[in-house]
Amino acid sequence: MSQPGRFLLAVLLPVLAALASAVPVTAPDPADEDAWLADVARRAFDDPDAMLAELKQRWPAHAGPGQPREAAWLLARGRLLLAAGQADAADAVAMQLMGRADGADRSWLLRALTQERAGRSGSALAARALRGLNAHCPAGDEVRAVRELGCDFRSAWEALRIVQRDQSNRGELVGAEASTRRSLALARAGGDKYLAAQSLGLLAVVLQAQEHGDAARAELRAAEAEAQGDLLAGARVRNYAAVVERRARDFGATRSALEGALLLAEQAGAAHYAALLRSNLVDSYMHLGLLREALASGQKALPVLQRFHDREYERLLHHNLAVAHIKLRQFDVARQELARVDGYGVDPAELVPRARELRELGDTWAEAGQYKEALAAFAGERDLNARANERNRASALEELRRKYDSAAKQRDLELLARDGQLKDQQLANQQLAQKVGIAVGVLLLLSLALVAVTLLRMRRAQARLTANQSLLRAQSERDPLTDLSNRRHFLAVMEQRDRAADEPTRAEGFRGALMMVDIDHFKNVNDWHGHAAGDAVIVEVARRIRAAVRDTDLVVRWGGEEFLVFAPELPGGDLAQMAERVLRGIGAEPIATDEGPLRVTASIGFASFPLGGSAGPGLHLHWEQAVNWADMVLYKAKAEGRNRAVGIAAVDASDADLLAAVLQDFDAACLNGQVRLTLLLGPA
Ligand code: GH3
Ligand code: MG
Ligand code: MG
Repeated sequence: MSQPGRFLLAVLLPVLAALASAVPVTAPDPADEDAWLADVARRAFDDPDAMLAELKQRWPAHAGPGQPREAAWLLARGRLLLAAGQADAADAVAMQLMGRADGADRSWLLRALTQERAGRSGSALAARALRGLNAHCPAGDEVRAVRELGCDFRSAWEALRIVQRDQSNRGELVGAEASTRRSLALARAGGDKYLAAQSLGLLAVVLQAQEHGDAARAELRAAEAEAQGDLLAGARVRNYAAVVERRARDFGATRSALEGALLLAEQAGAAHYAALLRSNLVDSYMHLGLLREALASGQKALPVLQRFHDREYERLLHHNLAVAHIKLRQFDVARQELARVDGYGVDPAELVPRARELRELGDTWAEAGQYKEALAAFAGERDLNARANERNRASALEELRRKYDSAAKQRDLELLARDGQLKDQQLANQQLAQKVGIAVGVLLLLSLALVAVTLLRMRRAQARLTANQSLLRAQSERDPLTDLSNRRHFLAVMEQRDRAADEPTRAEGFRGALMMVDIDHFKNVNDWHGHAAGDAVIVEVARRIRAAVRDTDLVVRWGGEEFLVFAPELPGGDLAQMAERVLRGIGAEPIATDEGPLRVTASIGFASFPLGGSAGPGLHLHWEQAVNWADMVLYKAKAEGRNRAVGIAAVDASDADLLAAVLQDFDAACLNGQVRLTLLLGPA
């Protein structure tokens, strides 16, 4: 290169460098970066050192101290350290994370994973992490949360898996299922097929634990579809299938699933995971009686697990190997394996599965006829169960209380709802009853009104009828020309007196005075002065009779120009005076008519009953007979010259027959003195 060229380069290079540093390096999409970090963490399970190196190499500037992506990278580093068995270094990372404003939740999660890795329950720490993570990942709104709210769905998924594992171990299957379903929702929202496949596998296991075998197998098929094309994911799904079959106690299917998983894991180059599967196969082979295969599988797995410092699986493997050796009656080797198992101690969270292991161990010892060891294992099991019960008692009580509370609340709500329905029904019934009541009331009122109106009308009609009847009766019993009572009225009065009288009074017969009055030669008035003058004479005669008697006496127009006066309780002397007054009243003054004044006289027959004389009180006469006697003496008055009054003073007749005979031949009786008469002459 020439001198000037070298100079130019010397000048230009720093400028170019400065320019290059000034050009902003566009950071990759955080989502893509997170996916890469997750993949690294997954692969770290089988090759942690390589992954740690790759992470260190790729650590970007935007993940440097205080940078926005630092927490995500720190968590990945912590997980890789754990996979490499460097728990202390992972703890240091957790401390680092805790110092960051956005690192606390991831710090808790990392600590939870550390606990789990140490064979202890990380559930409480995971729950702590989840509380913070959930703020950005609201349940039921996962898709939006991932897209817009910065939800770290992978961390939340991991925390949920840890919580779920603890729930399953404690037998809280409903809670475990809920946690799993939520983790599935998060995996799907984040589009992470690997996590989705794992969630489905976990869900299958939880469903199988609840004896929902068909549902479990359906979830396994879904998991397999989700894992398509990912060897490691496929291996894990098959391992879940093996767990499901193991729980269903189908050891043949368990073995097939595990062998399938092992094949995939080996293809994927996942040595650590393959060792886990081999460890699991030890158990299957033992159950199938393939003890040598079991031992071979275990012996292949053990060095790998030791290399990865996988204490949990190591312990389990030692246990399985111990069981296999017992069955092979290699008791000393078995005891050595068990001594290694004891070396791991027991985490309180693992009490129940460990007790289950001890029972299996006890059974195996017993089958082998080693009863002392069997009893020791059973005693150990009892001890672990007692501790588990003690540990779970409080949380179980709490759980029970929560369940009871929610059940009670539900019952209260149902009762409230039912109460509400009943009240609604009652209200409706009341309203209906009210309506019916009102309708009935209205009907009743209407009918009452109708009845009242009808009664009123009836009464009015009755009143009118009565008025009409009395008017009619009055009219029918009154003579229209003279306005005196007519013969019908007299009959009615007589009948009424008969009805009103008591029996002895009725037996006495007619009592009172009768006076029959007849105008003399009245035909002449009509003939000479006309009918109208005749009427006027009749009217005036009636008035004069009326004036001559008392108000209490009854004056009746008996016929055309004939009148009857009935005076109740009138002594004989008084009757004669009355007859005389009538005689004079009619005949003394002429009557004024349109034809001029006309002088008329009248003849009168009168009698008082009981008749005077021997006929007297002993003879009982009907009123009609009495009228006949009055008629008879009127005839006498006419016969003896008119314008006079003839009365019966006394009659001699000892009985009714004799009296009738007197009446038959009245003139003779008068002549022979059987009848004595009173005579009064009218005005000249
Ligand atoms: P005596 O003295 O015998 O009674 O003679 P008399 O003409 O009165 O006889 P009688 O009793 O036979 O005649 C009655 C007459 O009275 C017959 C009838 O035409 C007439 N008369 C009856 N009623 C009425 C009436 O209301 N008005 C008129 N103007 N005449 C009547
Ligand atoms: Mg007459
Ligand atoms: Mg006459």
